[in-house]
Amino acid sequence: MTNPRFIFVIGGVMSGIGKGIATSSIARILKSKGYRATCVKIDPYLNVDAGTMNPIEHGEVFVTDDGMETDQDIGNYERFLGENILASNYMTSGSVYMSVLSRERSLGYGGKCVQVVPHIPEEVIRRLSIVSKKTKADFILVEIGGTAGEYENILFLEAARMMHLRHPNNILFILLSYLPIPAKIGEMKTKPTQHAVRALNSVGIQPDFIIARAEASLDEPRKEKLSMFCNVSPKDIISAPDVESIYQVPLNLEKERIGDKILKKFGMKTTVRDLKDWSRMSHRAFFSKKKVKIGIVGKYFQTGNFTLADSYISVIEALKHASWFLNCQPEILWLDAETYEKDSKKMKIELSDVAGILVPGGFGARGIEGKIKAIEFARKTKKPYFGLCYGMQLAVVEFARHIAGMAGANTTEVNPKTKYPVIDVMAAQKEKIFVGKMGGSMRLGAFDCRLKENTIARRAYAERTISERHRHRYEFNSALQTVLESKGLVVSGVNPESNLVEIIELRDHPFFIGTQFHPEFKSRALEPHPLFIEFIKACLNYQK
Ligand code: GLN
Repeated sequence: MTNPRFIFVIGGVMSGIGKGIATSSIARILKSKGYRATCVKIDPYLNVDAGTMNPIEHGEVFVTDDGMETDQDIGNYERFLGENILASNYMTSGSVYMSVLSRERSLGYGGKCVQVVPHIPEEVIRRLSIVSKKTKADFILVEIGGTAGEYENILFLEAARMMHLRHPNNILFILLSYLPIPAKIGEMKTKPTQHAVRALNSVGIQPDFIIARAEASLDEPRKEKLSMFCNVSPKDIISAPDVESIYQVPLNLEKERIGDKILKKFGMKTTVRDLKDWSRMSHRAFFSKKKVKIGIVGKYFQTGNFTLADSYISVIEALKHASWFLNCQPEILWLDAETYEKDSKKMKIELSDVAGILVPGGFGARGIEGKIKAIEFARKTKKPYFGLCYGMQLAVVEFARHIAGMAGANTTEVNPKTKYPVIDVMAAQKEKIFVGKMGGSMRLGAFDCRLKENTIARRAYAERTISERHRHRYEFNSALQTVLESKGLVVSGVNPESNLVEIIELRDHPFFIGTQFHPEFKSRALEPHPLFIEFIKACLNYQK
């Protein structure tokens, strides 16, 4: 494609109204019409990537195949589009400034005065053109973080404005705005959105579409009002009421024919859509009634359910994808590892109630003894167990302590002086920690893993060699591998180059598996992850 089209998605009124999902959904719709679409996320903060941010505050850190630690929206794009999104499709103010400053230090600006404008927006534009070259997409959807009228995202809006000035026929702007229905007034109010459009106008941008997010559908009088005061044709104001499941959004937006409307504005051929697979999936998501109860044992529990779901979004979505595929509905229970440390009775009651136990990724010492107790419970009661990253490492610790006779075995992340360091810091990581080089320095991104025959892992995956994504500093200590294997631990997947242990499992147990990688990052709405499918199958069997 020599003529890429850019669609900027900008938020109005407030954050958290589903910009990422709307962006992913529009990309999916355009893909369903036979075009190549990709999505870019721009985050206004100064962190160079999302890796240094606490997931409780900012949500999950999503990892791409090429090892970038990104915002959770990249995960939404992948889940909706069913394609890998690479590092070039993610930028933050910090990363943009860093490029400009290091270019200045190497005399890259040839003696010019380097200025916030135009050099920062020009760097944004340069990066977007790299996305276009790399992906060869017909449509590049660019989601700008924050909302219109904020100080922080202004340079990105400036970049968008400059692109529009240069290529007016190739750029569209979508404002995704919120229309409140105040309880006491009982009427949907358009004024905040009118202000959002004014804010955009003041930076030289006129939206081509307004997606009206609200509790309810937009009615005609309000459409007219928005149209009149925001200077957008009524047919380009798209109603987007709340839905039960985010996976309904592409279908709802297509009911408003947003795909064809976008194509028409670009003067492109409209085509029939094919969202049949998508409807089937979303139908199953809606109508599967059989419940499967999964307990997630973790530690990020002090800030309430809302942020919790955000911190583990890929795990939750992967559980949903696999469950729907098997015509059931996951019911997720958030179980607090820390309380299990003191209260075994509570642990037994809670864990007896679920069909499967999952320990997700994590860092540090807090709550780990509780997680180890939960893992022990899963092993002894033969309840399906799925450990992701830290959940795998702690399963090795549990096995070492209670089966291999290694009292006090631990990961050196928690006890650097343990007699049995079954999980140890990777050699390459030691130095980075020593010099404090922490950002973007873990073992990150996709690595190959060779599977052993006659194992749960091999049964789940169709291929013998798989590729999965990582984010960790510690690993299975290969010096202790032979002893642990002789005691019955099964190493079912290793990295073919480094021989690092990537998957462990247990025999004499219907489903007990731990992966050093994060399989949840590769589960897609239309392609559930094979390990999650096996896990849910095992849980359904257990429930019987
Ligand atoms: N804290 C562990 C490590 O760094 C596990 C990391 C994770 O679960 N992502 O190796």
